Amino acid sequence: MYLSSLRLTDFRNHADTEMVPDPGTNLILGANAQGKTNLLEAIVCLSRGTGFRTRRDAELRRFGTAGAAVEARLSGGEREYDVRLLLEDRKQAFVNGVRQRRTAELASLFHVVLFCPEDLELVRGAGAIRRRFIDTALCALRPNYSKLYAEYNKLHAHLVRLLRDGDPDGLLDDFSYRLCCVGARMIPYRASFCESLVSRAAAYHAEIAGGETLAAEYRTVSTVPDPAAPASVIAGQLWEHYLSHREASRRTGSVLTGPHRDDLLFFIGGSAAREYASQGQARTAAVACKLAERDIFLKNDGDAPVLLLDDVLSELDERRRDYIIRGIGGGQVFITACDEALSALSAAARKVFVVEGGRVTERT
Ligand code: ATP
Ligand code: MG
Repeated sequence: MYLSSLRLTDFRNHADTEMVPDPGTNLILGANAQGKTNLLEAIVCLSRGTGFRTRRDAELRRFGTAGAAVEARLSGGEREYDVRLLLEDRKQAFVNGVRQRRTAELASLFHVVLFCPEDLELVRGAGAIRRRFIDTALCALRPNYSKLYAEYNKLHAHLVRLLRDGDPDGLLDDFSYRLCCVGARMIPYRASFCESLVSRAAAYHAEIAGGETLAAEYRTVSTVPDPAAPASVIAGQLWEHYLSHREASRRTGSVLTGPHRDDLLFFIGGSAAREYASQGQARTAAVACKLAERDIFLKNDGDAPVLLLDDVLSELDERRRDYIIRGIGGGQVFITACDEALSALSAAARKVFVVEGGRVTERT
């Protein structure tokens, strides 16, 4: 599925932007602060229902306006869909004019893989970055996971409030038990996603880095020896962990047990990447993970997801840059850059758009 047309109304600094992207590679050029990332963020919204730089939809509305809209035509094979996301007081999504029950349902229709500067920290940065990566991909790939994830976050937020308030009604066990049950159903999804991700990423990493090995291990709650076990088994193991941490949870006022603390630990050339990877090694691994993610979507959907590359090429060395530019063909791509010094990029682009002060013009 690719974008055959796109329109932004009062979205961030774009008052009224219309474009007809190429089904191949689109280069988005512009000086700093002109609206390049904003454009990619609008495309992300069409897939995820939310932006990637904020959780607050109000920030997505152009200053001084009451609502923003992102509209697009999605094409692929024989299918065409008109998708519209309205970010007003209420957020609503429409597909071919039909209102969707949840905006998150867009995620099962249209898939994007985003690579932004923050992702360069995927391997060495905080665990939250890796969890978000895994969760975002799984929410798009598996609608059931998306529901579990939303439920888990609701329960978790509730538990945080309970603990903060000292659990006056004695509900801690009850809510913790529910958290264990939902968490237990999420863990096998994560384990299986990580397994397919890592085997693919390892192959890319070896190719880009001249044979260097990349491995990774999915880590969940310590009482769960097999994250691929049936959910009923895992639920019991999570409960066991909860019981042994209940008092500490009360004391510290934080939820100490559950997959909201999971991690995916990378090893490069046999050493733990968080501690020992060089900047370049970590970036290569991050690139490899993103390319692997794209392959997973390709396999799942039967066509390539839209690839959004925000400002990452300038942070990579020439070899990796060339590798990406050569390797990204075969689907629709949007790449932002400040200048065209990256000549290989201009050569690869089928269309070039220039962004200036929230206005987009196609260069012919
Ligand atoms: P860079 O090359 O620095 O990454 P960019 O072209 O990607 O720049 P964006 O992040 O897309 O820049 O746009 C930034 C501009 O958009 C900023 O000037 C910011 O003030 C403006 N902006 C952000 N949100 C809004 C909003 N809700 N309403 C109006 N303008 C906004
Ligand atoms: Mg930017």
